[in-house]
This record gives sequence, structure tokens and C-alpha cells, in this order.
Amino acid sequence: MKFRESSTYRIINNPMMQTSRKHFTAGMLLALCLTIAACVVTTDTLDNEPQVQVPAVTETVTQTPEQETAGQEVALPAEQVGDSLVDITVPPMDDTAGQQQPEAATPLVSFLPEPVKVTPEPDIAPVIDIRQLAIARDSVRVLCDQIGNKLGSVSVEDCNAQDLQYTGAFSINQRSLVTKEIVPVRPVPMDFKVLIMGGIHGDEYSSISIMFKWLELFSPMSLEGEYHWRFAPLVNPDGLLDGQAKRQNANGVDLNRNFPSEVWSASAVKYWQESTGSNPRRFPGNGAASEPEVQWLVDQIEEFQPDVIVSVHAPYHLLDFDGPAVAPDRIGELYLHQLGVYPGSLGNYAGLNKRIPVVTLELPSAGIMPSDDQIDLMWVDLVNWLDRKGRNILRAQASN
Ligand SMILES: [Zn+2]
Repeated sequence: MKFRESSTYRIINNPMMQTSRKHFTAGMLLALCLTIAACVVTTDTLDNEPQVQVPAVTETVTQTPEQETAGQEVALPAEQVGDSLVDITVPPMDDTAGQQQPEAATPLVSFLPEPVKVTPEPDIAPVIDIRQLAIARDSVRVLCDQIGNKLGSVSVEDCNAQDLQYTGAFSINQRSLVTKEIVPVRPVPMDFKVLIMGGIHGDEYSSISIMFKWLELFSPMSLEGEYHWRFAPLVNPDGLLDGQAKRQNANGVDLNRNFPSEVWSASAVKYWQESTGSNPRRFPGNGAASEPEVQWLVDQIEEFQPDVIVSVHAPYHLLDFDGPAVAPDRIGELYLHQLGVYPGSLGNYAGLNKRIPVVTLELPSAGIMPSDDQIDLMWVDLVNWLDRKGRNILRAQASN
């Protein structure tokens, strides 16, 4: 530092001058030391900065608050980027770095302990990773533009109004895999979680549109408000949005045959070849969970731990059910007709292997939406069934 090369420092260390001035210098230094210490304290107090503690030892303390905050990780509030928390690095505050070591007015500070200044916590907003936020916002906005332009029943505004949540996962063609999470507004005795998804087959338009209709119906003050919902309105965005809509994803894989069920390796390809005649619309993929959309759903199930999964399809006009618990008899005009499971289907993986009840709704038409009355009725029936099932689970837990 500059002041270490100062004139007094040189004088003090000059052998010719040391002897004759030794006592005088020492006396002067002591007096000046006391004066300067008092001045520093007074000045700092007047500047409304924290009082300086003069350490008893002469060791120079160089630690500054900036060094402590550099690299500190800050969690972004969830609502800003959806469910995906982003770690943000707060960069060093360059504009304040120069303020911590004021120029010494006198070289005598070489004898003094350097005052340790405590800088107040800077009153600035955390610096967020703008690039990450922009990617999240853009990818959801682009997805909504494409959905709104593709589906007759969902406008760009309808999609944007749902404020879909970026999850950081993407389809093969880099479309955002989004969710919408709704938590109970009232205190509930247990967190009963429902994962509900549409569009695992990209050409089943109605299965995607109805997700948005149900989200619009959602009333936090009604029965459904007691459940913890995670909507995944479009699981296979490439299937819907890459040119002409198709059942499979961009790799030509039927996602509902790609789940890593226990029998996948032994049966999935064999079944596809022998029972479907290698129908490309039913291709299970080259390996269990080979597809990013399926990997994402597996992660969602693992992380969310749903009590019930609802998956909407079309156009077989029925209600299917896999897994434990008592199936609903009907949901709207869809009546229970259990089809069994296919190797690598969601019912196989989640219903049979993971023992999570899977309700499959097959709407009557892929291209024509059910009537508004039917959309309402299906929602009411689904929630009523959940309510009975939810209460049954609660009763079972209470009696154990
Ligand atoms: Zn389907």
C-alpha cells in the first residue's frame, strides 16, 4: 500500500536519524496516535457509520464484507420462475469496493492498527440471473403462442392467463414442459396430491384443451380447493405442434409405451412387434424411459409423489383405471371399462408397479370438445370421487 512507502516510514527506518530522534518521535507518535484514533472514531460517528472498534493488537485486518457476500447463493422466489428455483450468484459490489480503505492522511497509521470498518448490509435487491428468467419466460410464452394458434378451443390469451410454470425441462425440439401447481388455500389434514395430465398423445387435441377448461373452472373455495393439484396440460408438445399433429413424440415414440415399467425390457418391443405388427404409432422406443418427456414425467412422479394420477386421452369414450383403490363407476358420460395395461404404459408403470391409482379418461372425440355441461360434469364427478377416496384414505389412516 502507498502509505507504507511514506516519508515518515523512511525516516523512522533511516539509521542516521533513528538515534537522535528516537525519543522525540516516540512521544510525538504516541500523542498523534491518540489524536488520530479519536478523530477516526469521531469522523465515523458523524458519518453515521458503525463505530470503529480499534483492536488491541496491531495486526492489520483486511477482511471486508464484500468478500463475504461474493458468490453467495440466493434462492429466487418460486412464483417468479415457477417451480424451478434458480440459484443466483450475487457478484462482488465493485462500486463499493474502493470505499473501504480511505487514503491515509498521515503515514503514522503504519503504527496504528488499521481500523476495521463494518459496512452496513447493502440495501440493494439481489441480482437475479436475468438470462435464466428470460429463457423461462420466453419458452412458456412461445409455447402458449403455438398452443393458441393450434387449438381451436384455447387462445393464446387463455394459455398465457394460466401463468404456466417453467420446469426447466424440454421436449426433443426444445419446447418447454410446463406445469401449473395449485395448493390448498385452507389448512387441510393431509396433503392429498393429484397429478393430472393431457396431451401425452399429440393428436388428441381435446385432451389438451380440456386441461385449460378445467383450470378455468377451478375454484379454490370449492371442494377441489382442498387438494394439491399439479396440472401438466401438454406432455407431448412436439407431437401436437410439429406440423401435422401426431400421436408420438419427435423421435416417433409412443410415450405411453415408453414408461420404465418392470416388464419393459422383456415385453415392450416383443408386444409391439407381435401384437401391433410393429405399428409405428405404438413404437415403445429403443429403451425404457428413453424419451425426455417420459423422463420428465417419471421425475415429476418421483418428486411430487401423487396420491392419484389422472391422464386424459381420446377418442375411445370410456373410463379406464389401473392400480389400487376403488375405481370410479363413471366420470361424466365416461363409464368404467378397464382395458388392462400395455408394457410401458403409464397404467403399467404408475398403477401396477408404483401402486398409484391411475384414472384414464378417454374422451369421445379427439377433435371435438365435449359440451360445456359435460366438461363441468366430468370435473365434478372427478372431484367427488377424489373426495370419497381422499376421505377413505384419511379414515384408514385414522383407524391404524
Ligand atoms: Zn391417447
